[in-house]
Amino acid sequence: SSIFAAVEMAPRDPILGLNEAFNADTRSNKVNLGVGVYYDDNGKIPLLAAVKAAEKARLEAMPPRGYQPIEGPVAYNQAVQLLLLGADSELIAAGRVVTAQAVGGTGALRIGGDFLKRLNPSAKVYISDPSWENHRALFEAAGFQVENYPYYDAATRGVNFAGMKSFLLGLDAGSVIILHACCHNPTGADLSDAQWAEVVEICRERGLVPFLDMAYQGFAEGIAPDAVAVNLFAASGLQFFVSSSFSKSFSLYGERVGALSIITASKEEAGRVLSQLKRVIRTNYSNPPIHGGAVVAAVLGSGELRQMWEDELAGMRDRIRAMRSGLVDAIKAQGVAQDFSFVIQQRGMFSYTGLSAAQVERMKDEFGIYAVSTGRICLAALNSNNIGYVAEAIAQVVK
Ligand code: PMP
Repeated sequence: SSIFAAVEMAPRDPILGLNEAFNADTRSNKVNLGVGVYYDDNGKIPLLAAVKAAEKARLEAMPPRGYQPIEGPVAYNQAVQLLLLGADSELIAAGRVVTAQAVGGTGALRIGGDFLKRLNPSAKVYISDPSWENHRALFEAAGFQVENYPYYDAATRGVNFAGMKSFLLGLDAGSVIILHACCHNPTGADLSDAQWAEVVEICRERGLVPFLDMAYQGFAEGIAPDAVAVNLFAASGLQFFVSSSFSKSFSLYGERVGALSIITASKEEAGRVLSQLKRVIRTNYSNPPIHGGAVVAAVLGSGELRQMWEDELAGMRDRIRAMRSGLVDAIKAQGVAQDFSFVIQQRGMFSYTGLSAAQVERMKDEFGIYAVSTGRICLAALNSNNIGYVAEAIAQVVK
């Protein structure tokens, strides 16, 4: 018999499964609010002008395609560090930051997980309840036991900070804590700056290992303000991990552009950490692909293209904000008594709407509007054409 005879069918990815159902739907007014992708007001994934300019220059230069260094090129890694820590960073100046280009934010989390497993094989990993669905699977795949820490409070639609704090205070030293640096996925509920400062102190007190996932830098308030958590940890003197993704901020999803940064205690330590991280990378995929990283480095390294990119990023951020308040207004205009104004306070691409699984099901069946069964919707999939229709559907199912 076949060597695969006993292979069981794996469960479908919940979000990709939603896409398949959406694609098969023949209704012309269907709307997909399930995916985590930014669409413009025409419902298209934008190709940013700054990216286009950098790609054009690369195409004209026709550079050779040799292997990259295992950790990626210096120019790219330095640009990543500057985005996270700012130009005045003492950590960068002291040579304490290790950065390696990675295959998207996902790849950064995975090489970080593999490195951590070698560092402390018996540690447990803690993710927020709820979290991006791949966090658990990624760290389990790296060999860790993964558990939740309290995070979202459905009653206040904010963070259950008291619960989170007391839970973190009870953890063993060496526990790895995955934190969403900004724009929490899926809830849109972030910690305040003061709460971040408390989390930093708890990590110090308890000897926890912070791992910040930065997948949406620039989508809440801007490049610098969205790095507040990273910078509080940087100022603390602690060692920590940061995964970066440029999938959303550069609209380069399929190019798989990300990075892992590790903040160490000294330049000498950074050298040793990098040497081990390179072994992890070498045995996973040897070295990172060229194109996406080169484009990002070119944009960030040129004053003109960087400004262009920041303006385009601000445009995406502002459009999402406009969709948030537009949706709240349109739902109200439908005569819905329930207050949806919390949608305006949530940050990033997503909102936990509070819609039940049954209400989400009705939206799909009766209106062809697809959302995640948890009630998560992607605001960046709304546009001036579909926002009224979506508001009407929400009004119908909550009445
Ligand atoms: N972390 C979070 C919180 C995310 O939402 C995502 C993307 N959905 C990622 C990491 C992974 O990003 P990438 O597509 O660059 O692998």
